[in-house]
Amino acid sequence: ELDIAWTVKWLQLCAEAMAEHRVELIELDRAIGDSDHGENMDRGFQAVLAKLADGPPETPSAALKLTAMTLMSTVGGAAGPLYGTAFLRAATSLGDAARIDPPAWAAALAAARDGIVARGKAEPGDKTMVDAWTPAVDAARNAADGGNADNLAVLVAAAEAAEAGAVATDPMVARKGRASYLGERSAGHRDPGAVSSALILRAAVEAAA
Ligand code: ADP
Ligand code: MG
Ligand code: MG
Repeated sequence: ELDIAWTVKWLQLCAEAMAEHRVELIELDRAIGDSDHGENMDRGFQAVLAKLADGPPETPSAALKLTAMTLMSTVGGAAGPLYGTAFLRAATSLGDAARIDPPAWAAALAAARDGIVARGKAEPGDKTMVDAWTPAVDAARNAADGGNADNLAVLVAAAEAAEAGAVATDPMVARKGRASYLGERSAGHRDPGAVSSALILRAAVEAAA
């Protein structure tokens, strides 16, 4: 069941993943940015953990809204407002439902991606986190299609697509964000935000496993 317990577990595993991959995200951002992405994401999700411990939310949507507010005020840089918007739009998409079913998960991912695009104006191929979210949305929609998909299959489809999407940023030339200042020299490196996005969607699988 993708309920509030799953949502809280997911957010806890996000925090674990950001702590575990902190140095990797810093190194990726060192190559094409300013070396802070791992620190930003770790700080943000540690703050989310603290908020969850303060007062456990009652619905998945409330937990994601709390996450959005916390990430917006603690992550900083480009990623803070982008992830804040993503989680906020996902929360709105879920409404007050107690459980998330496959079509609702696909819709929440689409809302998150649309929020990132609305805020950052990046297109697929610009070497940003959009390159992880867009294939994840497509994969989740395909997996949820037909109506009898199980939760885990849809979560796995999204995570795998995001991971492949992050890898696919390697040869891209950045056209948005700090990495775009490097022009052609941004090619040959993986986008840090695409990697952190894939970590978030992989944590959603682990929370259900
Ligand atoms: P900053 O670049 O301000 O230091 P971070 O290092 O925390 O912020 O985040 C960088 C990541 O943010 C990039 O790897 C990229 O995925 C994402 N990003 C930056 N600008 C945009 C944008 N306009 N649209 C989507 N994602 C973006
Ligand atoms: Mg940075
Ligand atoms: Mg920065």
